[in-house]
Amino acid sequence: MRLERVLAPNPGPYTGPGTNTYVVEFDGLSVVIDPGPIIDTHLAAVEHAVGESHPVAVLVTHTHPDHAPAANPLAARLGVPALGFAAGPQFDPTELLTDGEEVKVGEGRIRVVHTPGHTPDHVCFLTEGVLFTGDHIMGGSTVIIEDASDYMASLHKVLRLRPDHLYPGHGPEIPDAVDMVEAYIAHREERERQVLAAVTSGADTVGAIVAVVYPDLEAALVPAAVMQVETQLKKLASDGLVEFRPDGAMGRAVPRPLSE
Ligand SMILES: [Zn+2]
Repeated sequence: MRLERVLAPNPGPYTGPGTNTYVVEFDGLSVVIDPGPIIDTHLAAVEHAVGESHPVAVLVTHTHPDHAPAANPLAARLGVPALGFAAGPQFDPTELLTDGEEVKVGEGRIRVVHTPGHTPDHVCFLTEGVLFTGDHIMGGSTVIIEDASDYMASLHKVLRLRPDHLYPGHGPEIPDAVDMVEAYIAHREERERQVLAAVTSGADTVGAIVAVVYPDLEAALVPAAVMQVETQLKKLASDGLVEFRPDGAMGRAVPRPLSE
């Protein structure tokens, strides 16, 4: 297997150094994973990395605008299908991928691992001990999640795969894969404990909980923190530990009275 990373020139607060696009080649056949946003110089660099290999598909981990929009144009240029778990506003898959299916790349096999949580349509790709994690796990930061219950289940699902190396959608390669997945699980569990402790100690709005759990937060990141606390409160509510009425920063949460 030959693996080449091409960094897209889209750095930012939510993309780190930019989106990682990967070209994975098995014996002269290749796929492109997460071609990123439509930036001509980036697509030229991706085509250069494909090089003399014969591309067979463009794969996307999820439909966020920093991962998927270039998939259709690149697939058209390469004359291959664009494959993902779901359609999105800027992504029109040729075919849909399903959990557990294997994409054949000559003798190579790339397994689709559905990992909802960051988004409902998120998948990772596993081949030869290497897991391409998209935004399920990032290099150098934690991720924004839409559903905390799904996200925890997906972290445990990835842990059971015992990958050797993680190649994230943002940030550097992660060599100690299992250690990193376990650290992510521990971090989520700690966040959940912090949010529950804040509610129990009387912080009864999302804004008040954010102030406790994320002290000294830059103003620009407060909306993301509000969303993360909401996500955590929805999980705590479905676990029966709090009562939660969402309303942005004014959303209200109270500890659930213990039943007799
Ligand atoms: Zn994303």
